Amino acid sequence: MEVKKAGVVGAGTMGNGIAHVFAMNGYDVALMDVEESFLERAVSIITMNLDRMIKKEKITEADKEAALSRIKKTVSISDLADCDIVIEAATEDFAVKQKIFKDLDSTCKDSAVLATNTSSISITEIAAEVKRPDKVVGMHFMNPVPMMKLVEVVRGVATSDETYNSVMELAAAIGKTPVGVNDYPGFVANRLLMPMINEACYALMEGVATKESIDTVMKLGMAHPMGPLALADLIGLDVCLAIMEVLYSGFADSKYRPCPLLRNMVKAGYLGRKTKRGFYEYE
Ligand code: NAD
Repeated sequence: MEVKKAGVVGAGTMGNGIAHVFAMNGYDVALMDVEESFLERAVSIITMNLDRMIKKEKITEADKEAALSRIKKTVSISDLADCDIVIEAATEDFAVKQKIFKDLDSTCKDSAVLATNTSSISITEIAAEVKRPDKVVGMHFMNPVPMMKLVEVVRGVATSDETYNSVMELAAAIGKTPVGVNDYPGFVANRLLMPMINEACYALMEGVATKESIDTVMKLGMAHPMGPLALADLIGLDVCLAIMEVLYSGFADSKYRPCPLLRNMVKAGYLGRKTKRGFYEYE
């Protein structure tokens, strides 16, 4: 697969990071969302992040301008027709992704690869919605995308070797380290990370230690850059709960049962940093 132009569907936290990384590596990008204001917000975040890189003397003003000029905003999926690959990074909801993939399938050229950045939805199930299941693959970037090296490249049951190999190469070409994984609930990253966060919630709920102590044990004892409860606040407690639900139902195994404290926090609307209150409070 020769990639000149990449489409990104969804210009939120992950979509703006993915557009940033493709544009900085010389690819044309069509960035699509449902409202112009979301696209404007995304481009202003990309601009801010590029300015930060200029301050650190990692890139020049000319690099920034060149990258920004490669990103074209659109609210119309038809502007993705000539993309060689599209990475879907829209809301984590199967119905939303199902509709997007059907639209992409009828809009994009036959050779285009359709990738999804989903954290937990089955690649195989998404692929079953389109006429080119062999060209559907998971491209699971980590947050924040410009900083984090890992991309999990997820093979669905129908993903072809050609698609898988070309996406592994593409991830390397944009400066990431791809790791191939098969399509099982949570892939590898969230299958290991989320049960740890969930267990930290149980430890807090059972009064084993305070939140600060639990986080300190993992930071100083295991050299984690953040404790699990602070990390849960960063990810979003609703997102953590949703991924635990996918693991619990996907494996039908009680070891993945979501912690009742996590459920209560989500019910209360304490979702972490984005609501200024989770396990910790934020200004
Ligand atoms: P977000 O809520 O920040 O952004 C989602 C964007 O998708 C919004 O701007 C929304 O308007 C847009 N959108 C919704 N429906 C759309 C449609 N039909 N067409 C075009 N755009 C549409 O979400 P996010 O955190 O960026 O997550 C996006 C995806 O990335 C999800 O699948 C999520 O599981 C995955 N992911 C998230 C993280 C993370 O840490 N946030 C990490 C890895 C993967």
